[in-house]
Amino acid sequence: MTAKLHVLSSETNGESQAAMAPRPKEGHLSIENVSKTYDPEGARVVALHNCSVEIAPGDFLAIVGPSGCGKSTLMNIIAGFDNVTEGRVLLDGQLLATPTSPPKPGSDRVVVFQNGALFPWKTVLENVMYGPLVQHKMTRAEAEERAMDLLAKCGGLDKVAASYPPQLSSGMQRRVEIVRALINEPKILLLDEPFRAMDTVSKTTMHQHLLQMYRTCRKTIVFITHDLEEAIYLADKVIVMTSRPGTIKSTIIVNLPRPRTPEMMLSTDYLALKAQAIASVHEEAKKAFERGEREHA
Ligand code: ADP
Repeated sequence: MTAKLHVLSSETNGESQAAMAPRPKEGHLSIENVSKTYDPEGARVVALHNCSVEIAPGDFLAIVGPSGCGKSTLMNIIAGFDNVTEGRVLLDGQLLATPTSPPKPGSDRVVVFQNGALFPWKTVLENVMYGPLVQHKMTRAEAEERAMDLLAKCGGLDKVAASYPPQLSSGMQRRVEIVRALINEPKILLLDEPFRAMDTVSKTTMHQHLLQMYRTCRKTIVFITHDLEEAIYLADKVIVMTSRPGTIKSTIIVNLPRPRTPEMMLSTDYLALKAQAIASVHEEAKKAFERGEREHA
């Protein structure tokens, strides 16, 4: 049995020195004037109102906003789990969502949620190989080679390929899940508060691992979070949403250089961006609080 605790490599102190992968040709997401109204038994809930966002291929977008502002709704629409009431969503010019088309999930968009979804009875390697094998996209030998290559690129996870998920820390499980998503060659990686339940130290380590994965296996990323600091630290662009109905309140362009290092969080540029984001988010949190909305569990 592999030990549950793993000593962190020096790579986790900062992004790997490997060159940033080139911008991919695919993964251009356009969210155009999207509104979403839920109408369970006639109780109309306007979750999103007239939201427009443009993400270039290979960009890292973070979405922040108070609880209930429609972040997950937007994520579900992009993932193809839910439909729009108005507007449309396009991926590389192809229609993903319109008010009249049925929701269209696809392997070109993969979601990683905060609560893990690895098969505990399969090894790390078998978990990662599962997608392409079940979809008959690769032979077993091809899937194994690709899985081991990705695991190695993502912070030395090849060393735990034979372990079972319950033997790993939750942070390591989350990283394996991201690798399991990447093997499907998605155009977009959707991360729904993946590190929400983690303590500050584990989160900081996970940030460095995610940045390293982004650097070596660059994809368009949409990252949902409550945590402003993590949004600014990770992303190229931060969208701040208003409290319900969710609209885009502001867009913060994060022009911090890459590779990002934890020391950057002390820089004047980072602190100025943080101040800008705090002002925007706090105004919305206050409105939501005054309306009596409570944090979802
Ligand atoms: P967030 O992810 O920002 O916390 P959500 O997207 O989960 O927000 O929810 C936005 C709003 O839509 C909330 O008021 C929520 O209660 C409501 N909502 C979400 N899903 C449904 C649903 N299936 N039916 C009815 N209302 C919903």
